[in-house]
Amino acid sequence: MSCTENKSIDLENNDSIVIENSRLDGQVDSLLNLMTLEEKIGQMNQYNGFMDFTGPVPDEDESEMKYEHIKMGYVGSMLNVRGVEEVRAVQRIAVEESRLGIPLIFGYDVIHGYRTMSPIPLAEAASWDLEAVEESARLAAKEASAAGINWTFAPMVDISRDARWGRVMEGAGEDPFLGSEIAKARVQGFQGDDLAHKESIVACAKHFAAYGFPEAGREYNNADLGTSTLYNSVLPPFKAANDAGVRTFMNSFNQLNGIPATANDFLLRDILKEKWQFEGFVVSDWGSIAELVPHGFAPDGTAAARLAANAGTDMDMESNLYVNELAGLVKSGKVDIKTIDDAVKRILKVKFELGLFDDPYRYCNLESEKNVIGSKEIQEGALDMALKSIVLLKNENQLLPLNKANKKVVLIGALASDKNSPLGNWRATAVDDSAISVLEGMQEYNENIIYSRGPELVVGKTAFSKEVKINDSDVSGFQEAIQTAKNADVVVLVLGEHGLQSGEGRSRSELGLPGLQQKLLEDVYQVNKNIVLVLNNGRPLAIPWAKENIPAIVEVWQLGSQSGNAIAKVLYGDYNPSGKLPMTFPRSVGQVPIYYNGKSTGRPNLPSPDFVFWSHYQDVPNDPLWVFGHGLSYTDFEYSNLQIVDNFSKDKSIKITVDLKNAGPVKGKEVVQLYIRDSYSKVVRPLKELKGFQLIDLEVMESREVVFNLTENDLGYFDNEGNWFCDPGTFDVFLGGSSNTEINSSFELTF
Ligand code: BGC
Repeated sequence: MSCTENKSIDLENNDSIVIENSRLDGQVDSLLNLMTLEEKIGQMNQYNGFMDFTGPVPDEDESEMKYEHIKMGYVGSMLNVRGVEEVRAVQRIAVEESRLGIPLIFGYDVIHGYRTMSPIPLAEAASWDLEAVEESARLAAKEASAAGINWTFAPMVDISRDARWGRVMEGAGEDPFLGSEIAKARVQGFQGDDLAHKESIVACAKHFAAYGFPEAGREYNNADLGTSTLYNSVLPPFKAANDAGVRTFMNSFNQLNGIPATANDFLLRDILKEKWQFEGFVVSDWGSIAELVPHGFAPDGTAAARLAANAGTDMDMESNLYVNELAGLVKSGKVDIKTIDDAVKRILKVKFELGLFDDPYRYCNLESEKNVIGSKEIQEGALDMALKSIVLLKNENQLLPLNKANKKVVLIGALASDKNSPLGNWRATAVDDSAISVLEGMQEYNENIIYSRGPELVVGKTAFSKEVKINDSDVSGFQEAIQTAKNADVVVLVLGEHGLQSGEGRSRSELGLPGLQQKLLEDVYQVNKNIVLVLNNGRPLAIPWAKENIPAIVEVWQLGSQSGNAIAKVLYGDYNPSGKLPMTFPRSVGQVPIYYNGKSTGRPNLPSPDFVFWSHYQDVPNDPLWVFGHGLSYTDFEYSNLQIVDNFSKDKSIKITVDLKNAGPVKGKEVVQLYIRDSYSKVVRPLKELKGFQLIDLEVMESREVVFNLTENDLGYFDNEGNWFCDPGTFDVFLGGSSNTEINSSFELTF
């Protein structure tokens, strides 16, 4: 039984989809018949726009060549073209000056916003709030489409268990179930119900596949991955995105078990296009076709183009190899014309679906650009998402929320006044220094708040394409910060990573607080123990000293344009945090990869004190610093009365209920999490697997029965050949507010 087989199908709706599909196929075929080989290959070619990371591309010859190619019909898509006027100008060349007038599709990395930044995707995942995540993607699509963009290279659905990898900031964390739910929400948010709506943009599930498993967490490194992990952890969010109707996939830079993903027949043909029946198109990841040569997989660019096209990579992003090599390869019989036709049909179909043939300028409206970008609706959406993304990690003695009347609160840290870092990485066209800082947010509550910057975090200016240089020697500001802390009732210390320390090309081998920050934290602690640590970071950090000593810790990630407003509202109790960690926080780098849904060893437990032959480290406990799913609230939730209703047999669903009570002082939301364990099976299953979650809003003293239904779909797994299995036997069920669950029970599955 496949993951989708038991989905109910709306017949009437399905009929109209079939009719619409055949109408589109007819239009695509008619157009294809008119195209020369070169024009077909042109559709498979995507060029980077006329900008580099800092401004217009200086090389005029290259721009001229690109314009010429558009006129000749040798270009199907552009990326990084900014703003309505420029999109319109480039589109005009394609539509009015090329022989067939086929419109271009304009792509951009709208990862968490186009101009207005919502929280980084990992932070959004911490909300576990699917409606909010969908809405955030919808608003990003609205803003981007108002700037002429009709395709985003998002969502990144790569599962990752390794916080050293810088791109964990861009995903939804370590868990395939949460990752799949978020993938669906994001695809739906970007694409909406109707792609032809002018505020919908095409989504792109990336990076297919296993890019989140680079060896040692080092960017672009190879992935050597067992089939059990591939089928059960890596592929499910991609499958979910496909089920949600995502129109494009992007492949990845890495090799998977020796075969680069860009030329990987097994991934692109066998799994994606055949097994999953994906109907959209696959774009290469930037120059990943050209990279087949340094990978040692292709002797030269010609072979690289052949291997990638034959494996099913439909569009070449900026390698320039398809446009230069494919025609020759078709003529020499090395690439079948059917392969080209298939790729071109896929690309044209998406353009038809977007309505670009009806009106190629449908996204080019100066009025909307002016009114929508940065509008009140989008700013409010960014604030809402930011509030929901914050995770309260620790709150001893109820140090939080802060007392609004207490004016002796001191704010410390270079990140506290930073208006740039909260924008995070992948900030599209966000204006530098446009985020609300923590200082500004807190000034709304206390306009005379004392702020001491402390030592700098970074040296010099940071930029998307440049290495971030961390200050580890200049102690200016250190003493002043300590002095200021002495006389405060509460010190709010804002520490962590700069927003450009995570993201592509930003792997780290250490996961502590960078630069002088750990020392600053410990020195402030010497003079004042009432510390609220506000953590800004794009990945889990290993900060055991802080967990041990600091009474209150709030994880705020990089929250985007409205960052400081959201943080201040949470610190002052105007918003009760409800976020939960989507990734395990390790105690030390040596524990990485660390994730909650690992498998048991034959020697899991310490049998007696001092016995050495069990699975452990000598110098650090096995458990993490904070578990997956952890997150506190300003109120307390109680779980009771877990019940498994009905005996379960194959093909039926099982109902599980639990009572949740808000037993604390304020209203709040709790993410109720359901995990299972298949106690023994043909291929060993994880100790715990998330299979359901619900966000429950409760008034003070209110109780609610929370109901889950598990089907065979939730209980089965893929074996090592990729076949779906479900074993009879005992299943444990765990319920609680984190993966360290509160209560459990079990049931027998019989058939
Ligand atoms: C990244 C992709 C991105 C592309 C275009 C690549 O380096 O890996 O995720 O979409 O660049 O900017």
